[in-house]
Amino acid sequence: AGSPRQTLTFVRERLEAAGVRPKTDLGQNFLIDLNLLRVLADTAQLGPQDVVLEVGTGTGSLTNLLAERAGYVISVEIDPKLHAVAKELVGQKANVRLLCQDALKSKNRFHPAVLEAVEEALAEGNRQFKLVANLPYNVATPVLTNLLSLERPPVTMTATIQKELADRIVARPGTKDYGALSVWIQSQCRARIERTMPPQVFWPRPKVFSAIIHIVLEPERRNRIQDRELFHSFIRGLFLHRRKFLRAQVLSALGRKTDKAAVDEVLQKMGFDPQARAEQLDVESILRLYGALRDQFR
Ligand code: SAM
Repeated sequence: AGSPRQTLTFVRERLEAAGVRPKTDLGQNFLIDLNLLRVLADTAQLGPQDVVLEVGTGTGSLTNLLAERAGYVISVEIDPKLHAVAKELVGQKANVRLLCQDALKSKNRFHPAVLEAVEEALAEGNRQFKLVANLPYNVATPVLTNLLSLERPPVTMTATIQKELADRIVARPGTKDYGALSVWIQSQCRARIERTMPPQVFWPRPKVFSAIIHIVLEPERRNRIQDRELFHSFIRGLFLHRRKFLRAQVLSALGRKTDKAAVDEVLQKMGFDPQARAEQLDVESILRLYGALRDQFR
């Protein structure tokens, strides 16, 4: 604990001692405002039943705070030097497991070793899975989207991300930010921006503003989506060509295996204007459209 100034000093000293220079290509911007670290943890509403996954251990300051509040913390760091720094700070804690590796296997997949560690921790009794992280900018989108593809996704995801990405997650139909990411998340969760943050709360300072996003899984909404991965690729295709009209967007989403007349028929039957655009449709309408097309073209 201490003032934010002390945190900056702390981070710098730790890194210097370990001979680490922050690498911006790995999103190594450390949160140096203690109060905001607490806001992040407060927003996640942690308790002893929670198994927390943190992506990007860094120096371990957030890990330390999470371990005080949650039952168990699994924290993944790609940079071996930072992993070593964090190990000194939190390596001895009985409820912390530090992994040194890339959290992702590929852009579309979490690393199985990370998921195994989470599963193992969850296997113990009545526990629930949460993500809390100051996410590296370069992998924030795949981390959030891939976690929602899991059979057992986190009940909440609370993370510091680029403000522009947070805007896209909570975007409403008819806005420029509304797209496949908004629909993917909002079709399964409630999402809100808890706080926006200026560059100076990080060291080194990033070029952009950040935000704390809080995403809460809504299992009933999620469960009504039949074949979620198909839905995911459907919405990606739907928003790929934003300037096209709905019919062309649907054809692109279906991989052009279908003919225009058949698509027009479905659109008409469901009361969709073929001259509309996908970004004007709310999440419910897109789910309805997907349901009808899925039945038709499976
Ligand atoms: N948790 C610390 C904090 O709050 O100050 C550090 C957060 S910093 C924004 C992001 C961290 O993620 C960096 O330490 C970086 O090395 C690490 N990182 C970047 N890409 C990663 C990946 N693919 N898998 C795991 N860690 C990664």
